[in-house]
Amino acid sequence: MKAVGMVVDLITLKKWLGNYDHESITIGVVASHSSLQILHGARMEGFKTLGIAVGENRKRYYSAFPGAEPDDWLMLENYQDMIKHAEWFRERNVIIIPHGSLVEYLGSQNYANLEVPTFGNRGILNWESSRAKQREWLEDGGCVMPKVIDDPHDIDGPVIVKYAGAKGGEGYFVARDYRDFKRNVNLEEEFTIQEYVLGCRYYLHFFFDPTKNDGFQVQGRDGPLGSLELLSMDRRDESNVDEFYKLGSLRDLREMNLEPSFVVTGNMPIVIRESLLPKAFELAEGTVAASYGLEEGSRGMIGPFCLETIVTDKLEFRVFEISARIVAGSNPFIGGSPYSDINEPFMSTGRRIARCIRQAIDSDNLDSILS
Ligand code: ATP
Repeated sequence: MKAVGMVVDLITLKKWLGNYDHESITIGVVASHSSLQILHGARMEGFKTLGIAVGENRKRYYSAFPGAEPDDWLMLENYQDMIKHAEWFRERNVIIIPHGSLVEYLGSQNYANLEVPTFGNRGILNWESSRAKQREWLEDGGCVMPKVIDDPHDIDGPVIVKYAGAKGGEGYFVARDYRDFKRNVNLEEEFTIQEYVLGCRYYLHFFFDPTKNDGFQVQGRDGPLGSLELLSMDRRDESNVDEFYKLGSLRDLREMNLEPSFVVTGNMPIVIRESLLPKAFELAEGTVAASYGLEEGSRGMIGPFCLETIVTDKLEFRVFEISARIVAGSNPFIGGSPYSDINEPFMSTGRRIARCIRQAIDSDNLDSILS
């Protein structure tokens, strides 16, 4: 996995923001992933919005959702052209909201260096995009992760083989032994072998606001760090593993030359047993607290993040991944969720981001939530 280069420093960020008209901030987003939710939320908080897209076809479908249609568009030949438009964005007081597709389309190096204020902490990307570093971070935060098998000859029981980079599960496969592994592996690609955890999957969507000093306060070494909220929860639909059971046992399937695959095709809303919530908060709190110690001067987690978990029949959480930004699994909750509705109706993750920006503008504190 490539290391991500220098992230824009705080002095540069403050210089850019010094030239911004804080009364006419525009929220910019690449038109994909969770953009409907982000645009809709930005509008609810009174911001102007900008869609960034390649191809008229991409733009056209937004006219079917007037409640989220951007006020303006920046149409590009390719997403790399965003880099050349940095000054253009800054002249229009744009704050970009990152999501998984932005990082994928732009490349993590280009994203880290994009000379435009973005929501959240870009420094975290380095830790999120390497499986080994992610494990160091999550375990430090108290999360129990699936075991890693270093030597494929040691496979003894079900494992999942994952390729490098977030691919939405593409190409992953399950193996029971070395023979299975050899039959399916692509040795050209970097891979990790993980214990296959049996249980139910829950993708927990949290929001950490370092500027808020009420609610559930995350405790750091030197006192409270900010407020942690649980906004929603989903389970992914994965093709074709989620429908495999209809065709019989794994053995029947193998006889038909079929292997389960894990490609994300959609998301379903879900809630977890209420007695599991304290543990969920404990894991998220530990993860946020550990984010401040990732490296010298780390600004820690800012904004939305998702703990991807499996709950076993012993009611224990295994955390297999973290996404340190808005996840597409929050899309079912544009109108709110059973959790966020308790505090304020219609509070999606997209709107919560816009609210965080709005409050930071009002308290002249924008640089503490952007990078
Ligand atoms: P993304 O970055 O989009 O979250 P990814 O490509 O990094 O995806 P993972 O989220 O790690 O992939 O895994 C894809 C899917 O594989 C999961 O949603 C889950 O269904 C399954 N999975 C992953 N790890 C395990 C595990 N250790 N045990 C059982 N199932 C797993």
